[in-house]
Amino acid sequence: MLAPRMPVYRRRSSLWGCTMLLVASAVGAQASSTRAFTGLTLIDGTDGPPVQGATVLVRDGRIVAAGPSRGVTIPAGAERIVLDGKTAIPGLINAHGHVNEPTDLRTYAAYGVTTVFSLGGEGPPVFAARREQESSPALDRARVFVAGPVLNPATPAEARTQVAGVKGQNVDIVKIRVDDNLGTTQKMTPEVYRAVIDEAHRLGLRVAAHLFYLADAKSLIAAGADLVAHSVRDTDVDDELIAALKARGVCVSPTLMREVSTFVYESTPDFFADPFFLAHANKEWVRTLQEPARQQAMRTSTSAQRYKAALEVAKRNVKRLADAGVPIAMGTDTGPTGRFQGYFELMELELMGQAGLTPRQVLASATRDAARCMKLERELGTLEPGKWADFVVLDANPLDDIRNFRRISAVYVAGNRVPR
Ligand SMILES: [Zn+2]
Repeated sequence: MLAPRMPVYRRRSSLWGCTMLLVASAVGAQASSTRAFTGLTLIDGTDGPPVQGATVLVRDGRIVAAGPSRGVTIPAGAERIVLDGKTAIPGLINAHGHVNEPTDLRTYAAYGVTTVFSLGGEGPPVFAARREQESSPALDRARVFVAGPVLNPATPAEARTQVAGVKGQNVDIVKIRVDDNLGTTQKMTPEVYRAVIDEAHRLGLRVAAHLFYLADAKSLIAAGADLVAHSVRDTDVDDELIAALKARGVCVSPTLMREVSTFVYESTPDFFADPFFLAHANKEWVRTLQEPARQQAMRTSTSAQRYKAALEVAKRNVKRLADAGVPIAMGTDTGPTGRFQGYFELMELELMGQAGLTPRQVLASATRDAARCMKLERELGTLEPGKWADFVVLDANPLDDIRNFRRISAVYVAGNRVPR
């Protein structure tokens, strides 16, 4: 047990100055702002083994200590939350979702998704929600990061103007689509997306690219794109793409559930009978997606059938990329109609498992690796001192069985229990 303890302490001491600053700034802070979560099995999201009999100590929303209970001193007056027999994992990070309104952040959090990178289409209330969370120890919903409007310029000059526009909105990333929607629409040209990427980088912004085809993936990576926001789905990935992704550390967000959503409503899916789904599902969507005419239309839709085949390609590709060491950032493309926030992220984890990833690979893709991919790792992604205390308490260990991600006992954001 000594080996996993040592790095915990080393990190704690290196962050000690930071912790002291936090204490000093919280003048008159109440003792109740310190919480000790005890008796749990800790999966902290690093490569270390699970720690049984662990304590997580949280002050003002951030982790002060996380490790074996005998090594954590709980201050007098701290609130104690006993979690005997439970397993804690870092809150899930969705690298590709869409937040339509701030209440969506409660839905995501109810299913353990404590951070959502919203890749386009957010309105002013969602931007305001991002501002609110910046230094809030009282937060009790998912954190959100934004892309603003998805850029769709027609010329390089327009590209530069549009990038300047979203820079002015203070977005966290720039989002573009390079896709012809199965041959039905015009695709953004290389000349235009090169201008977007060049201008974004000049202004200090990263670029997330929606794509479908292998050839576009290669061209976008060569142009400097920073995040592949969907799986390559037209064909199997090859060594050339893998080498290009690894050379620049570009992450891939598989969004397997996006594909599922394009065909699954050709009949009423099993999960529509799951009380865990229905607890937070958009009731209007659940009703309309069961309309016979709508289901019939999906059954006969050519694109639905092509995306169904594309899902199998995507699953092969995520396995190949993960095994080759390409960083995978869990993402779903939830938010649009029929793509249910929160529950679909848990289904995404299971699909990654079906694709052949181990539970440990799946967990990493949804926590530490997603945080690194989205440049959030200083604050999020693992349960280590100095980071926000965003975590999920489970009734069973998800490393034993991926379905255990569903067995949520409680969700905490900044150490605050999420209402659910
Ligand atoms: Zn999207």
